[in-house]
Amino acid sequence: MEPNLVRILRHDFKDLYKELEWGVECESGWFDLIYNLSCSIHNRCNETRITHIKEKYGGLRFSVTPCVGSCYREYDIWIDWAEAKSYRICERCGSPGRLRTSLPYVQTLCDDCERERLEQNRAMIARLLEKAK
Ligand SMILES: [Zn+2]
Repeated sequence: MEPNLVRILRHDFKDLYKELEWGVECESGWFDLIYNLSCSIHNRCNETRITHIKEKYGGLRFSVTPCVGSCYREYDIWIDWAEAKSYRICERCGSPGRLRTSLPYVQTLCDDCERERLEQNRAMIARLLEKAK
């Protein structure tokens, strides 16, 4: 995710993000989804910490260390919902998208971003073939 967007998350939800280990390991198209989920958790309890946010197999993965209370029951539902929704939002630009399996690295993308990804892949293969000559 673009560093300035990560800065917004860390600024607006300071305590929630203070134990985040590896940054936000997905592209910027899911910013609104992550922001809204962070907002819900932040408003529910200020002792919870987000430990991991990443993309895996084309979908969002979101991990928290809940407080000692019963908040986690709600978090499970919210996180499941956000993770399921990520499969319908382009990870690059935030437009409506779907899971793309045309390349070994699967990703949830809109039509335009998938076209761009395939074009980049074709260009990379052409460069490799050119080098191999
Ligand atoms: Zn897109």
